[in-house]
Amino acid sequence: MSGRLLIVSNRLPVTVSASEKGGRPQVRASVGGLATGLRTPHEQSKGLWLGWPGDMSTLDEAGRDEVRRQLESRRLVSVELSPEEVTAYYDRIANSVLWPVCHDRLDQLPLRVEGWDVYERVNARFADAVAAVWRPGDRVWVHDYHLLRVPALIRERIPNARIGFFLHIPFPTPEIFFALARRRWLVTGMLGADLIGFHTRRHRGHFAAAVHRLLGADAHGNEFDFRGRRVRVGVFPMGIDAKDFAMRAESEAVHTEAVRLRRNDTGPLLVGIDRLDYSKGIPRRLLAVEQLLVKHPEWRERIRFLQIAVPSREGVRAYRQVRDEVESLVGRINGMYAVPTWAPIHYVHRGISRSLLIGLYRAADVMVVTPVRDGMNLVAKEFVAARTDDGGVLVLSEFAGAAEELSEALIVNPYDVDETAEAMHTALVMPPNERAQRMRALRAHVTTHDVARWANEFLDALGA
Ligand code: UDP
Repeated sequence: MSGRLLIVSNRLPVTVSASEKGGRPQVRASVGGLATGLRTPHEQSKGLWLGWPGDMSTLDEAGRDEVRRQLESRRLVSVELSPEEVTAYYDRIANSVLWPVCHDRLDQLPLRVEGWDVYERVNARFADAVAAVWRPGDRVWVHDYHLLRVPALIRERIPNARIGFFLHIPFPTPEIFFALARRRWLVTGMLGADLIGFHTRRHRGHFAAAVHRLLGADAHGNEFDFRGRRVRVGVFPMGIDAKDFAMRAESEAVHTEAVRLRRNDTGPLLVGIDRLDYSKGIPRRLLAVEQLLVKHPEWRERIRFLQIAVPSREGVRAYRQVRDEVESLVGRINGMYAVPTWAPIHYVHRGISRSLLIGLYRAADVMVVTPVRDGMNLVAKEFVAARTDDGGVLVLSEFAGAAEELSEALIVNPYDVDETAEAMHTALVMPPNERAQRMRALRAHVTTHDVARWANEFLDALGA
């Protein structure tokens, strides 16, 4: 494919940190899914990646210049935002309005929504940054809910640009999406693209229904005629770097972690790993663990459920509330069932290292992934990729995007606490041959549908 790829995302795929004692600031590559998946197309096309480098307000002018130089050498273009802009655009609109609506949580909406003007201004800043570097033949790929207006704003500036947009979070049913006062404006923003990608058929279907009801436009197959242009919508389930997870899972460091995690005990280990977000279904998952102990008392003093809850968006009230709820449930359940030598729930409110993360994937007898709503959920896929030993059972919510692909998991309705508890029990007693058979099928899927394939399929469709 000729032409450069211009990737546009809220965050650049790096972390900038000020060094102590006034030395040079450091720019380090991030390890997130998007950063990994797009690294190769970014390198191969000799393209640019445009995004916010993170807060640089602690750096002096010389430090900021140094960061810009380091970014330039990686072909990264920074879109700098003031702290006030970040508060309004990122915290207030993206994370406090769009995130809850797209995860079906109208109850989490603030009573008064303010900040759309800043959202538009920041989106326009991204579009200006694209227009400043765009050359004929370039393809533009815009990512996610922070930038819903960017495709249309680029289209205004460069009418014949080739633009793709990918939504990494769910698109909710129109009944929920229509709660947004700016619903038409947001959808029109997305329709500035030539190709719009979703993780699942369900999200694409919701979007097509919303477009039809708001704008009267009908999808012909997977295409809309919109303002004299053709806009295609497609399903591209994002994968992970499965080979890398498999390789690390067999490393000495991970093996040591896994052995340490199993200690010397023989009791089964159940694991949950999530950002501490209300969409992840952690409170009901804890109730399901309690229910497991009630319905199947033989597991008392035997199982351990380890929940890693990575701190997230702590400036937003709803996140402080879910943290309080989780901590009070952990306290209550442990208070009820623990004995001096054993407690059912181990709760860690902290991010963990990569070797511990993969060590946990390897040590888990049951991985419990029960979000009440999730665009994809990469933890589920990483767990599967790491189980080159064919061990472990995945309990997976039907409301995670990953469930459309991972049908050999034990699929549960996370709102049904009893069903989730029974699935945990089924996982714990599953015969080894069935367990291995399911895991092999899951791993075959995750390995063949990896993140490189995801990026290639989207870009091929965009180029077609
Ligand atoms: N992860 C991490 N640090 C941790 C625990 C998890 O970086 O301490 C990673 C994990 O490997 C996965 C990502 O965070 O790649 C979570 O992605 P997912 O799609 O499951 O959920 P999201 O947080 O994007 O909603």
